[in-house]
Amino acid sequence: METTYGTLYLCATPIGNLSDVSQRFLNTLNDVDLIAAEDTRVTLKLLNYFNIKKQLTSYHEHNKAEKGQQLVEILKQGKNIALVSDAGTPAISDPGEDLVRLCIENDINVTTIPGCVAAVNALILSGLSTKRFSFEGFLSVNKRHRKEHLKSLENDTHTMIFYEAPHKLTYTLADMAEVFGQNRRIALVRELTKLHEEVLRLTLGEALQKFEVDKPRGEYVIVIEGKNPDEEGQEEQWWEALSVIEHVDEYISKGQSSKEAIKSVADDRGVPKRDIYNEYHRDR
Ligand code: SAM
Repeated sequence: METTYGTLYLCATPIGNLSDVSQRFLNTLNDVDLIAAEDTRVTLKLLNYFNIKKQLTSYHEHNKAEKGQQLVEILKQGKNIALVSDAGTPAISDPGEDLVRLCIENDINVTTIPGCVAAVNALILSGLSTKRFSFEGFLSVNKRHRKEHLKSLENDTHTMIFYEAPHKLTYTLADMAEVFGQNRRIALVRELTKLHEEVLRLTLGEALQKFEVDKPRGEYVIVIEGKNPDEEGQEEQWWEALSVIEHVDEYISKGQSSKEAIKSVADDRGVPKRDIYNEYHRDR
């Protein structure tokens, strides 16, 4: 008799507040045959809190190649597996992506039990635009790679979301200020769903000043405003230092008639032709 494959359940865990779990999350953990956890000690505490007794196995960054194959074999025997990480949604800056791919390659059903993800919650609290955003995860610890990553975002106009550990926060903000400028607005979203949840809305320059004095504590998400699309247009134009008369004369010297030159100047300055005409002929 052919065995029906089991299902892999991607189960999001709380990011600080245990009351954020859903009934479906609890039912799923109770019903599956096995829970694959990033750190079994962390998950055991969660299971104990909810009085769930279930077999646990580890699945993390350092054993994922070998362990992924083993989990696929178990799923192929018709067993159901829940995948959890220490906090938040598996496969988002956490192990899971490779296992999902492996399951898809092996025709194993994968489903999600949705819940917390720090990035989206930080974004909606940031006060910055939520219309278009990108999730950038953690910057590399390699100096060259992190600079290249930031540089590639320099002209992006959408909101950007980064994860960072507290001991690297100041260093990362300094790198960001170098690329995006001190005036770029950001939100530092700290300790989401916990007692000391806090959102600091400030500029990169102000954030750097703050952490010269205060030591960053807790878990942070950095949300950065995209580049203002008008910034390009705000660059100085070649004619800005010229008077209206000099501006018109410049076009005339390039071969335009005075009528054409007045129109060109009006277009450049975004004002009516009549105003340029009056100014040009005032003292003549
Ligand atoms: N998979 C998780 C998710 O869905 O958000 C992310 C895991 S990643 C290893 C951990 C990072 O997420 C932290 O360094 C921090 O940037 C962010 N994070 C997690 N919990 C947080 C919280 N309660 N408040 C603020 N940031 C948090």
